Amino acid sequence: MSTTTTAPTAFEIHRTDHPVPDAERAALLAAPRFGTVFTDHMARITWTSADGWQNRRVEPYGPLQLDPACAVLHYAQEIFEGMKAYPHADGSIWTFRPAANAARFARSAARLALPQLSEQDFLDSLAALLAVDRAWVPVGEEMSLYLRPFMYASESFLGVRASQEVEYLVIASPVGPYFAKGVQPVSIWVAQDYHRAGPGGTGAAKCGGNYAASLLPQTEAYAKGCEQVCFLDAATNTYLEELGGMNVMVVDADGSVRTPPTSGDILEGVTRSSILQLLTDAGHEVREEPIALADLLAQIGSGQVAEVFACGTAAVMTPIGRLAGADFDVTVNGGQAGPVTMAIRTELTDIQYGRRPDRHGWLHRLA
Ligand SMILES: *Cc1c(COP(=O)(O)O)cnc(C)c1O
Repeated sequence: MSTTTTAPTAFEIHRTDHPVPDAERAALLAAPRFGTVFTDHMARITWTSADGWQNRRVEPYGPLQLDPACAVLHYAQEIFEGMKAYPHADGSIWTFRPAANAARFARSAARLALPQLSEQDFLDSLAALLAVDRAWVPVGEEMSLYLRPFMYASESFLGVRASQEVEYLVIASPVGPYFAKGVQPVSIWVAQDYHRAGPGGTGAAKCGGNYAASLLPQTEAYAKGCEQVCFLDAATNTYLEELGGMNVMVVDADGSVRTPPTSGDILEGVTRSSILQLLTDAGHEVREEPIALADLLAQIGSGQVAEVFACGTAAVMTPIGRLAGADFDVTVNGGQAGPVTMAIRTELTDIQYGRRPDRHGWLHRLA
């Protein structure tokens, strides 16, 4: 059951009759665990090949009804995005470079033969959800509301072709600091038997299928005492590509920074591109160039490489303190977080939370 009003945007608002009570919400926001608690509502738009995007609405958060023949359950025609809504000191709520996420969502859609959602609908869906659920944005050190836009093939049809019915939704989950006890370097397992993407594949698209393919190597990494996997290029098994859900960068002792080029197999991270900009602003030489694993290991050994880190929206920047694989196990920077990693991480989060000037115009007000 819900009551209906019309939002200033094209989104119709159907409020839940059973919002989480204030005291219970406050308790949930005090110590959120990533991806376990969701806000009262979700934004939604339906697409059919006959009528296009229609029925823009915000409705009570709740289970979806799927026919057992629903295409996404069989052929994984699905894409998603990951963003955050950041509280600022004056009570306003902002997100970071959403146009970049909207553009990537459209590129992912094209690759997965899904319909493209306009940037306007993408941005409006976030604002519409925040308009009703802004009380769910947690306030505190590195706290935010994680936003998960996604789109899936909803047609009930077992034939193999692009779905003629699609649902787009945005759900939101309050999150606390990724590193509850301060930034901790992670150990990375370099997979040499598995790849997450290959030439002409879906590596540059943010699709669930890429993640499904990363889960077994991830399980094996855990068994080796590592938190995450770094994948190598499928064509030659030589060059670093990225982690299952984060890009990777190398800081040399001379202050220059290298990262693999996004030439089709690698997901083009918004965090990655923002860090490259901040590094350039700070006077670091920045290069997008292939990084061979063998060279990297030698350079870590010789001291040429000072820091290695991973980056993505969820953790912002994660220092890599150890790289291990079938026949190597090396420590980076004594297993400690490096100064360049930490300085840029602080600068980026300061911009996101409104503590430093947003000189590149990256912030977008949601509420
Ligand atoms: C989402 C994602 C990233 C990070 O992208 P951001 O826009 O920085 O959050 C990196 N690699 C993969 C595979 C991803 O899915």
